[in-house]
Amino acid sequence: MEVDGTWNAFIIDRTQTGFDTSVWDKIASTVEGNTISLCWQCGTCTSGCTAREYDPNFSPRRFIDLARKGDKQSLQELESSLWRCFSCQKCTHRCPKGVLVEEVVHAIHNYALEEGLVRKDPGTKFDELFLKAVMDNGGRISELLLGSMAAKYGMVSLSLKDLINVSSALLKTGLIKTVMNPEKVRNWEKIRKVLENAMKEEIKL
Ligand code: SF4
Ligand code: SF4
Repeated sequence: MEVDGTWNAFIIDRTQTGFDTSVWDKIASTVEGNTISLCWQCGTCTSGCTAREYDPNFSPRRFIDLARKGDKQSLQELESSLWRCFSCQKCTHRCPKGVLVEEVVHAIHNYALEEGLVRKDPGTKFDELFLKAVMDNGGRISELLLGSMAAKYGMVSLSLKDLINVSSALLKTGLIKTVMNPEKVRNWEKIRKVLENAMKEEIKL
C-alpha cells in the first residue's frame, strides 16, 4: 500500500488468520457480551480504566481483541487479571462506539470460567458467598456472617482479637441478635422466587 505518494513506502499486509470464531460467537450471543462486535480497537477504554492502575495487564481493549481472535491460550495466561474489573463504568461511558465495555469484560471472563480456561477467582468466590448470605438470611446481609465466611475461605484475615472486639461491641449494643439472625425483608418469599428465577436465567445464558 502506498502511504506518502512515493512508490517505495509500503505497509506490509497484517492480515491474521487461524481465528477460532466460536469464542467470539459464544460471547456475542450472551446478553452481557452482545455489543462486542461494535469495538474498533481504539483503546479509549483501556487508557482510562481504573483497574489498570493496579494491574498493568488489565486491558479491556486487549481482552476484546483476544476474544475476537479466539486466542484462548492468551486469555488463559491472563487468568490473574481477567477478573479484576471494578464495574466503575468509566470505559462504557467513554467508548466512542457504544460498546457496553464493562459488561463485555464480564462476558469474556464468564466465558473463560465456563470453558475452564481460568480457575474461580476471589471476586467470583466472594460474589457467591455474598449471594449465599443474602439467600440464607431472608434477603438481608449480615456483615459478621459474611466476614466469617470470607475468612473461612481465606479471603480476609480476621484475627481472634478482631472477632472479640466486634462481638463485644455487638453484645454491648444489643445488636448481636439482629446480626446473627437477621429479620427477613418484607415479602421475602416473593423476592426469593424472583432472585431464584433470575439466577436460573443467568445460568441459561
Ligand atoms: S473504547 Fe470501545 S471501541 Fe475503543 S477499544 Fe474500547 S471497547 Fe473498543
Ligand atoms: S468498568 Fe472495569 S473495565 Fe471498565 S474502566 Fe472500570 S475497572 Fe476498567
